[in-house]
Amino acid sequence: MSKRNQLQTYGSTLVRRCTALALSLTLVAVAAAAMALENGRDAESALRELKAGNQHHVSHRYSHPHQSAARQRELVAGQHPHAVILSCSDSRVAPEIVFDQGLGDLFVVRVAGNVAGDVELASIEYAAEHLETPLVVVMGHQKCGAVSAAVAGGEAGGHLPALIGAIQPAVAKANGQAGDRVENSVRLNVEMIVERLRTSQPVLAELVHHGKLRIVGAVYSLDSGAITWLPESAAPQ
Ligand SMILES: [Zn+2]
Repeated sequence: MSKRNQLQTYGSTLVRRCTALALSLTLVAVAAAAMALENGRDAESALRELKAGNQHHVSHRYSHPHQSAARQRELVAGQHPHAVILSCSDSRVAPEIVFDQGLGDLFVVRVAGNVAGDVELASIEYAAEHLETPLVVVMGHQKCGAVSAAVAGGEAGGHLPALIGAIQPAVAKANGQAGDRVENSVRLNVEMIVERLRTSQPVLAELVHHGKLRIVGAVYSLDSGAITWLPESAAPQ
């Protein structure tokens, strides 16, 4: 065999081997992605779906997924929600509507001011650990009454002081910041709660550490219906 032919043969063998290697790597990647989906461990696709659903809400062109009788029956066997939403109880921010989701899609924890005390943390831990939900969204909103009450200060009756006390750290942090004090407090409240969840021992912090859980902050606009996603590095370290 001439030197040139030898080189050609060597070259084509190399190309075949590289192609085979690339193919195996692709198969490994596809298998890993499939496994991530199977385990419900795909925060990225869950976030993509929520963003798309919010676009439907903004344009009022809903697809109303997963609201059939068949879906209802299918869920009797169990639930695998792809996102936990910790949002305010405010009647204007219903997660299934603002994200255009259906039955079995969202594990929703709602409490005024979207605060995270032990009871809320336990609910989130249940979804993250036992239902393997890969994404948590902490969602504040424009003109939040609970945050406004915390900003206004003064006397509050009943059990309200407990709620206002939970929001006060964000209000204190917003002091001196330029811009609207309520809106700043809403954003800071979300950021501080995101950080609280990310560092919550022993369950959530471990899941975050092992890449099995992603926690993001968001603020909902009553005006436009749009979600503003907070930068994931914005949370205080
Ligand atoms: Zn609110």
